Amino acid sequence: MASLGVAWRSIPPTFLADLRDLVGPRNLLTDPDLTIGHRIDWTGRFTADPVPVVRPGSAGEIAELVTLARRDGIALVPQGGNTGLVGGATPMEGGVVVDMRRLGQVSDLDPVAGQLTAGAGATIGEVQAVARGVGWEYGVDWAARDSATVGGSIATDAGGIRFVAHGGTRRQLIGIEAVFGSGELVSHLPRVEKDNTGYQLASLLCGSEGTLGLVTAARLRLVRPPGPTVVALLGFSSVADVVSGGTMLRLGSRPLALELMTARGLELVCRHLGLTHPFEDRQEYVLLAELEDHGNTVQAVLAEMEGLTASAVALDAASQLRLWRYREGHTEAISRLGSVHKLDVTLPPGVLADFIAEIPAAVAALRPKATVWLFGHVGDGNIHVNLTGLDPDDDDIDGLVLTEVAARGGSISAEHGIGRAKRRFLSLAHGAADLAVMERLRAALDPDRICNPGVLLP
Ligand SMILES: Cc1cc2nc3c(=O)[nH]c(=O)nc-3n(C[C@H](O)[C@H](O)[C@H](O)COP(=O)(O)OP(=O)(O)OC[C@H]3O[C@@H](n4cnc5c(N)ncnc54)[C@H](O)[C@@H]3O)c2cc1C
Repeated sequence: MASLGVAWRSIPPTFLADLRDLVGPRNLLTDPDLTIGHRIDWTGRFTADPVPVVRPGSAGEIAELVTLARRDGIALVPQGGNTGLVGGATPMEGGVVVDMRRLGQVSDLDPVAGQLTAGAGATIGEVQAVARGVGWEYGVDWAARDSATVGGSIATDAGGIRFVAHGGTRRQLIGIEAVFGSGELVSHLPRVEKDNTGYQLASLLCGSEGTLGLVTAARLRLVRPPGPTVVALLGFSSVADVVSGGTMLRLGSRPLALELMTARGLELVCRHLGLTHPFEDRQEYVLLAELEDHGNTVQAVLAEMEGLTASAVALDAASQLRLWRYREGHTEAISRLGSVHKLDVTLPPGVLADFIAEIPAAVAALRPKATVWLFGHVGDGNIHVNLTGLDPDDDDIDGLVLTEVAARGGSISAEHGIGRAKRRFLSLAHGAADLAVMERLRAALDPDRICNPGVLLP
């Protein structure tokens, strides 16, 4: 077998000719100027040399593509919207980028059962629009909804702002169609939710980051839309009060989102988006709560909340969107500061407040010039630790943060996946036996290791 990860100039011309025949000349890009967007990840931390980009139009074409790649030993790097934040879709070992976005159809909508089938290249926003059109919602949502794809969300088991209400992508998956690295095209897209007929391939592929195969379509569960909602920005001076306020809201109401911001993050977003600060006085920590409210239960809970120092409540859709902009502007505003280390972690509730309060000092002790940005889905214990002012290759600082997380019983990846950014640190999350079983699964399903070889497993 030829070596994997060869730069595109050493890809055999016969391979490129066969690809061109397979997808048509318009769907094979080799001009480096046309492929630049496929070679840089969203954070700017990971960049690759030029590689060809192929745009297959069906699951059958992808099965043939895998056969060709196995024949010539060419790595395949699946890519959806390229909004991943851990370098998982960046072709750093060379090979070929497989742009999945032509598989964008949404079909077989069942408005009674609340299910639909989505091609891997459909965006989350497109799935949400189709679901809303028949009175349902798709339960997973986040700021990159208009670029991120169904295939990417499955490959990373995306979580997002509604996890606290509906869980992540895995919970919405009823069935899957995919091409494994072995070349087999599997298709199990049942119309029923209760289906325990053997191994759940959908679940296995969910979170596999393109390392077992390419997801081509999925059967997705929809959720009922919420009743009237309230969005509130709640100010606190201590993070312990934020966490206990969030717990009160979870027990006393139906939260659809519970998101943390800090004074520093809010100021950056206001500067970046040209927004007026939502409070007159500086609030060290701000909890954005979106709640389903069938009456005045939320007001009653807020009246009892300890440590609450300020609040801004929005009832109508336009004002709610205005409050959401403070939170959704974070990723973009931080990325404007240069290359970002994105460490997306979860902590158990009992140690969450201490971690948030202590991690900036731990980072400052090792890298005094780094700036720590903390925000995220605090209702799930999920905090995005973003670090700026660092060398993109500075893995030691990532190791420090992730070791602190593991020592407290947390997870080093809550929702973005391991990608390239955290590959070195996977043993903080899994023991040798877990990793050995994962390796064997990978070897069975991708025997020539052509599927995203530089990602996930060390
Ligand atoms: C502003 C912003 C906010 C974000 N907020 C969140 C958030 O709240 N929650 C969250 O979970 N994520 C969030 N993300 C990260 C990102 O949007 C998700 O990880 C998303 O699932 C990636 O989808 P994508 O289509 O862009 O995938 P890509 O970035 O293209 O790829 C991601 C990974 O999936 C693999 N892949 C892609 N398509 C396929 C396929 N069809 N088959 C097999 N493997 C595939 C790639 O090889 C890569 O390893 C955010 C990103 C941005 C830019």
